[in-house]
Amino acid sequence: MIEQTLILIKPDGLKKSLTGNILTRLSETKLKIVGAKVIRVSRELAEKHYAHLKGKPFFEELIKYLTGELHQTPRVLAMVYEGEEAIAKVKKLAGATNPEEAEPTSIRGAYGRILTSGIFENAIHASSGLREAEGEIKLWFKPEELVSHLYPVEEAVKEKIKELIWA
Ligand code: ADP
Repeated sequence: MIEQTLILIKPDGLKKSLTGNILTRLSETKLKIVGAKVIRVSRELAEKHYAHLKGKPFFEELIKYLTGELHQTPRVLAMVYEGEEAIAKVKKLAGATNPEEAEPTSIRGAYGRILTSGIFENAIHASSGLREAEGEIKLWFKPEELVSHLYPVEEAVKEKIKELIWA
């Protein structure tokens, strides 16, 4: 089945200049990239993304991790990859959540570590399942930012939206 999956290169990945290495690993999957952008992640976006972990003892640290506060690197590279079994393929390549348990050749196995605070620093996020992927893609991307649509879109006329334009 053709699927789309959300991939985030988290602030530790950017701070350690791992972007190129991770993209090279992702190209092993032969999936196609259909969207990409660098984002300064707000606390609100981080909390929505990790809403399922609210209440965990490491939640506050996790929010600081994704917003970049933890690494003084407020940037995340967000991407959507598309293709046959995209979710499972990328999840396998990313490796287990705990970098110590991840396959050594997986991205997290190669580049992850456990910080003394206890948080798993694991360089990359990848959607876990179909439902998660749909929710995450819709949270991080607007339809116009993707070159291919798997989920239905509709046209809407929006007025009075404040946005930056080139001066
Ligand atoms: P995944 O990122 O593999 O989908 P989760 O959604 O459960 O896993 O967790 C989100 C992120 O929170 C992980 O990638 C990791 O950075 C951190 N994390 C998860 N579980 C723990 C834990 N038990 N201790 C420390 N950090 C954790």
